[in-house]
Amino acid sequence: MNASQYFRHTYATAREAFRQAAAARGLKLQSHRNPAKGAEGEGLTTDVALIGPEEARRLMIVLSGTHGAEGFCGSGIQVGWVAAAERLPADTAILMVHAINPYGFSHVRRVTEDNVDLNRNFVDHACAKPENPGYMELRDFICPKEWTEESEQRNLAALHTYALVHGMDALETAIASGQYVDPQGVFFGGLQPTWSNRTLRAILAPFAATVKHAAFIDLHTGIGPYGFGEIMSNHAARDPGHMIMQQWWGSEATYFDDGTSSSYYVVGDTQFAVNQSLPHAQIAGITLEYGTIPEKRDMMNAVRADNWLYLYGDVNSPKGRDIKAQIRAAFYQEKDDWKDMVLERGHYVMKRMLRCLGES
Ligand SMILES: [Zn+2]
Repeated sequence: MNASQYFRHTYATAREAFRQAAAARGLKLQSHRNPAKGAEGEGLTTDVALIGPEEARRLMIVLSGTHGAEGFCGSGIQVGWVAAAERLPADTAILMVHAINPYGFSHVRRVTEDNVDLNRNFVDHACAKPENPGYMELRDFICPKEWTEESEQRNLAALHTYALVHGMDALETAIASGQYVDPQGVFFGGLQPTWSNRTLRAILAPFAATVKHAAFIDLHTGIGPYGFGEIMSNHAARDPGHMIMQQWWGSEATYFDDGTSSSYYVVGDTQFAVNQSLPHAQIAGITLEYGTIPEKRDMMNAVRADNWLYLYGDVNSPKGRDIKAQIRAAFYQEKDDWKDMVLERGHYVMKRMLRCLGES
């Protein structure tokens, strides 16, 4: 297998590869224009292709680039699948949503154009937001105004002390579970639905009346062993989707509630949009999370550095380029063996989801 042919180094070329693969299969393409500009001044779109009948009762949704910089991986999996042209079960369609956060993809950032972590943005914005007191306590260390080796030593020491007192999980929750109070900070869930949130809902809306069974795969990177895709259930133990996950995947998937998942505790993820958009469907959703660099803390520190860079630094300075290289490596590995593993596992998961969906 030569998986590398499906992966691209920039958002613009990845979008082109997706569009060409869809066109080669004669698929109709829908593009949603994002208001921001790309890193090279290019226009930004989320592109959508439907494989199979529009009126299918069974739908598999495959989403890439929720966290923009993770889109390189997701795009490769999508392009490879479209090119492979697998047969579909009867009455089944696949909705490929390419680069739901095109700004983040193009600029190699996790966040959207308004500094929102899209996977924390699907909360009810009319209600009180989840609180994160740990973030408030540590904010100045997590998101410092200055970024030097010395300042970083001090900040990491303070974070380390917090972990010694409260535990590593508490530190990770403080940094990464999401916060709704600091619009300039990391893992900010937003004060209103961001463009990508509204766009995902608009993409799903035409399927609301017809879809009775759905499978959802949100493609992510940054946590876990190199090249391995962890199948993280998106459902809490009390959710209807949990039962379906148990039937489809059993212990091959990981679950937050029983402690097997490597994920943080997250609220407001993309699964909410799928659940709300397909009210008549039974839904099983996963986050397929691929490992990149060995240490989770290096990934988090790359996110912190990137946040500092866009607030106080210069992307085109040596320090800026260094930080961009760190964040790219934290979410994408430019290596053939990594891409082979990613593609093979991704397509295995898709085939299995599709078969289970076909039997439901
Ligand atoms: Zn992610």
